[in-house]
Amino acid sequence: MTELTDQISQAMEQAARAFESYKNVPGKLRAAFLRQIGDEINLLGDELIHTVMNETNLPEGRVRGEKNRTTGQLNKFADLLEDGSWVEATIDTGDPVRSPIPKPDLRKLLIPVGPVVVFGAGNFPLAFSATGGDTASALAGGNPVVVKGHPAHPKTSQLVAKAIKKALQKFALPEGVFELIQDSGHKSGQLLVQHPQTKAVGFTGSQQGGMALVKLASQRPEPIPVFAEMGSVNPVVILPEALKDNHTAIAEKLVASVNLGAGQFCTNPGLIITTKRKGFESFIEEIGKQVKAAPGARMFSDQVFQNYQLNSEKVFSFSEVSSVEARTETPATGEVGPAVGLVKAADFIAQPNLHEEVFGPFSLVVACDTDEQLAEVVQALKGQLTITIQATPDELANRKELISALLGKCGRLLFNGVPTGVEVCAAMQHGGPFPASSDSRFTSVGVSAIKRFVRPVSYQDFPQDLLPEELKDENPLNIWRLVNNEWTKEQI
Ligand code: NAP
Repeated sequence: MTELTDQISQAMEQAARAFESYKNVPGKLRAAFLRQIGDEINLLGDELIHTVMNETNLPEGRVRGEKNRTTGQLNKFADLLEDGSWVEATIDTGDPVRSPIPKPDLRKLLIPVGPVVVFGAGNFPLAFSATGGDTASALAGGNPVVVKGHPAHPKTSQLVAKAIKKALQKFALPEGVFELIQDSGHKSGQLLVQHPQTKAVGFTGSQQGGMALVKLASQRPEPIPVFAEMGSVNPVVILPEALKDNHTAIAEKLVASVNLGAGQFCTNPGLIITTKRKGFESFIEEIGKQVKAAPGARMFSDQVFQNYQLNSEKVFSFSEVSSVEARTETPATGEVGPAVGLVKAADFIAQPNLHEEVFGPFSLVVACDTDEQLAEVVQALKGQLTITIQATPDELANRKELISALLGKCGRLLFNGVPTGVEVCAAMQHGGPFPASSDSRFTSVGVSAIKRFVRPVSYQDFPQDLLPEELKDENPLNIWRLVNNEWTKEQI
């Protein structure tokens, strides 16, 4: 065996051993452990902030905000565990005298799946990396985690991994509950996904990377789920009345959203679909002005910067695409500014390459001649994380068919906002039809993300004293349960 194979085997076997005890750690103790991780991250102070800034070019404000989001989501999962109702305890009491056959007593709840492999995201060095949402949700569910650190920020990953290990020690939890593998190159990720002890995978990144891992996981002797959050162009559909009345304000907020964080967000609005009605020319003009005036920023790695230049140039190389305004080349500082292209609806529909994500501060305006053509463009869209409608309340009320078509294409539908800025809360859906994610039934943001790493199990006719606390008649944890089809906290 090579050194890398050894290292991965050791991490996964250790995780499997740790699972045997970690899965039985009571929810309240797991909650305290998650809060401790947050405290340890806070204790890293400015060292962490400066390390992230040095490795990713992200500005201080963004890094501090992302650090707070990271500790905030750990605390949210802790709240979930303390409440305890998340296990979805469901009880159908038996009826031994039912005729013609007795009804069994069935009691169901969610349990952890086992060791989870997490691929740290390049664009979120804290909130979606070693100690990010995937790790927090897997640990909350009772699963050990092995992280494949993203090669763009190894020192950051190392620092937060140390914070998790300190928290493990403070709670005397097994070492194997968390491990970090830092090896750039596809081999380590492939070995982790293929390892027999791996039971699920969380991933954020490119469609190519995500799909390679989905394929690998499905070809294992024991196939496992890969929850991959991949590319999305997050279309913004602007209806005529909004365009007529608000084109200046809409252009301003869209360019700000496209350019936010150098466009390195999975919810970046990469497509703007509208009709050539009153206000269209002024809208395009305003976009040009805003692009010219927008600040530049450096991207999180040279590789991602090069990809951005390559992919945006590719879009502009199509003769059907004209440039509204483009600031793709500022090599002296390494900073990129936004770029916006323009294409006719028929050309967009005919050219599949224009439907692909250009990761960075890029967007493409699709100009439709009629409402019917706009509906055709919507029909041609692939699955998305988000879709936004810019409309007046009155015109939205008359477009129920369009709303229904848009819902069929995305995981989150916004009215008059911008898709960047993902709230971490219970009602958030961050995941959409393929290719936005590999399984649109789940979210990778918010506490529902825990559902990716747990599975339901039923106990039939089990003695009370052998049932988990959540399923006992007296409800000792005082959680919400679905008992004989009614939600209750009462004792049975
Ligand atoms: P990526 O190339 O998909 O890589 C993400 C992680 O997956 C890395 O740890 C990478 O490891 C691993 N990986 C990728 N392909 C793999 C394969 N075939 N087998 C095993 N492991 C694999 O994403 P990235 O490095 O963050 O950025 C590259 C591009 O992805 C960007 O330019 C952008 O287009 C896109 N992206 C999209 C989003 C989004 O939210 N939609 C977010 C980030 C990036 P190694 O590199 O060490 O092999």
